[in-house]
Amino acid sequence: MRINVIGGGLAGSEVALSLADFGKEVMIFEMRPARKTDVHQSEDFAELVCSNSLKSKSLDNASGLLKEEGLLIGSRLLEAAHRHRVPAGKALAVNRETFAREITRRIENHPLISVRREEVCQLDISGSVNIVCTGPLTSECLENYLGELFGNALFFFDAVAPIVASDSVNFERAFVADRYSDTGDYVNCPLTIEEYEVFWKEIVSAEVLEIENFSDRFLFERCQPVEEIARSGKEALRFGPMKPVGLTDPATGEEPFAVVQLRKENLSGSLLSLVGFQTRLKWSEQKRILGLIPALRNADIARYGVMHRNTFLDSPKLLNPDLQSKDYQGLFFAGQICGLEGYVEAIVSGRLVAINVNRFVDGRRTLIPPKETMLGGLVNHVTVSGRSPLRPVYANFGLLPEIRMRDKREKNRRKVLRAQEQIEHFLEEVRK
Ligand SMILES: Cc1cc2nc3c(=O)[nH]c(=O)nc-3n(C[C@H](O)[C@H](O)[C@H](O)COP(=O)(O)OP(=O)(O)OC[C@H]3O[C@@H](n4cnc5c(N)ncnc54)[C@H](O)[C@@H]3O)c2cc1C
Repeated sequence: MRINVIGGGLAGSEVALSLADFGKEVMIFEMRPARKTDVHQSEDFAELVCSNSLKSKSLDNASGLLKEEGLLIGSRLLEAAHRHRVPAGKALAVNRETFAREITRRIENHPLISVRREEVCQLDISGSVNIVCTGPLTSECLENYLGELFGNALFFFDAVAPIVASDSVNFERAFVADRYSDTGDYVNCPLTIEEYEVFWKEIVSAEVLEIENFSDRFLFERCQPVEEIARSGKEALRFGPMKPVGLTDPATGEEPFAVVQLRKENLSGSLLSLVGFQTRLKWSEQKRILGLIPALRNADIARYGVMHRNTFLDSPKLLNPDLQSKDYQGLFFAGQICGLEGYVEAIVSGRLVAINVNRFVDGRRTLIPPKETMLGGLVNHVTVSGRSPLRPVYANFGLLPEIRMRDKREKNRRKVLRAQEQIEHFLEEVRK
């Protein structure tokens, strides 16, 4: 059976090299250099498009844990990254040119990999196995094709409000209540008039990230960045995302002057997103501004807000946890197009999909990583427990099943130990 890998970025390169090393013949399609994206600079496979950092190596960090799991399950790209590392303290940073060149050379010279430098605009979904790894900047023709294939469950733009870990919210300054019903689904963070005034003054002058090639066609009225709303007048937020109407703060027995609402981002409620707070503020500014909301003074930000072009599937509707389409057997996805954001997330999901495609082609059961592992937590979030419509995520401890205890460091340490134990079990399954 023919195996097509579409897209030669981080996920696609991992899939192709892994499958070839499993002994499978692979055809990889990459549209560069004939057709460029807005961010890639070279013709190489596995180009790191922005920072050269694969984030922390430390195991008290979610990305560090994901990297360890990726290496354990045999990621070809993570193994290569270590050979191209440059000094960066606790982070794994790489020389991006030599890294991408090595991966390109290995793909081009592998006897089981054929390279086609062409744009793919549709898939042969009945006759071949396809792994789509075209990333956040999937070309328009393929976007259109996938849009038709999956109805309206494909997104082209990401406008995400910051997401915080619920165990870092100060509930002495927050209360649970809904505006118009009694389901208790919202956490409300009230501000007094004085707190609101400081908040407003700081947000209107905070630094915004200038995004190259950012197109205004993505800025819908209903999706205005919170700082833009604030700039339209001192009261605008109080009549918009911070409106207090219908809420009574049990601490005062009165309607607060303004409120920031938090909504569950996953079924367990370990992650909460700020309702209506999509933003283009710089990440350091987001941390500072959120710190002005009393209940969020010490909040752990699991994901910063972003607004950018980003093609991704509504994976909870479309994909099984083996990252295969629910509707089309043999159609797999890996990398950011599944809603898994970040270099390491793309690479490790690529390895998982390669393991599963290898088994699928051999007529064996595909595998799902335990949700206690960081890889399993990510996959579980984007395919099962995350809210639809999906918000893309990167590795964070809030994705892992809760361990009830107050000390956050100890809690995360135990989550890491549990993940390490579980990934070993997964590895045994992979080796069977
Ligand atoms: C501007 C920007 C900056 C980012 N910075 C960071 C960062 O600093 N750190 C981080 O961890 N993450 C970052 N990310 C997020 C993410 O990790 C990267 O985008 C990552 O490269 C995703 O890997 P991928 O394999 O899914 O997609 P990509 O690496 O983008 O690979 C997709 C490949 O598919 C090709 N392709 C697209 N359409 C077609 C088609 N129709 N036919 C054939 N080929 C096609 C593209 O040319 C590309 O080579 C950034 C994302 C963006 C957009």
